[in-house]
Amino acid sequence: MSIFDSPSSIRARCPQCRRALRTCVCALARAVPHAVQVLILMHPMEVHEAKGTGHLLHLCLPHSRLLVGERFDPVQLQQALQGSWGEAGNALPRHSLLLYPETTQQDAALGLAAAAPPPAPCAPQRLRLVVIDGTWRKSRKMLYANPALQALPRLALKDVPAGRYAIRKAHLPGQLSTFEATALALAQLQGWAGEAPEHAQLQSVFSAFIARQAALQDENRNR
Ligand SMILES: [Zn+2]
Repeated sequence: MSIFDSPSSIRARCPQCRRALRTCVCALARAVPHAVQVLILMHPMEVHEAKGTGHLLHLCLPHSRLLVGERFDPVQLQQALQGSWGEAGNALPRHSLLLYPETTQQDAALGLAAAAPPPAPCAPQRLRLVVIDGTWRKSRKMLYANPALQALPRLALKDVPAGRYAIRKAHLPGQLSTFEATALALAQLQGWAGEAPEHAQLQSVFSAFIARQAALQDENRNR
């Protein structure tokens, strides 16, 4: 069904950010130069989640791919994790790193495999960052459902500031949105120090997104 023949009971959605057309955030996106490839694994419940940030992130990162699922086809996942993405002039093999905290004792007791040790420090051009986009509970479920993700070396964030995305109740206090966490991880891996323009640009996109969300909430209240 295209957006043009949808019955009026189904809200028409933007094909890029997948939000209702009235709340489309595509105009906020800015393509930021980056060398680390980013694989966004989005839980199906995030696809149409108005408070989700995964689509906006994808729109800001030219070297990103987005897969939607909970339990992925192992062959498709392996290709996305370890295969070449066929980007022109960019065929060197990549080390994939999962943005996720270390396995806790509780997770280990439940059978979660230990992550591989991190690779020796390497150039951003040789890295692929894997990000799970879902609530904390769904992200954990996806990790359990996909052994290939469990086996990846992990990237833990350093010096995490408090998240600014308080409108998202599904996240634990202090937990960052997918957008903020990925921006910080990229800053770490790319060596974007201090006020690097790329990081500043991502932060300004996110600030604009928060402002837009707040404006939409006001609009909804006054309707
Ligand atoms: Zn849009």
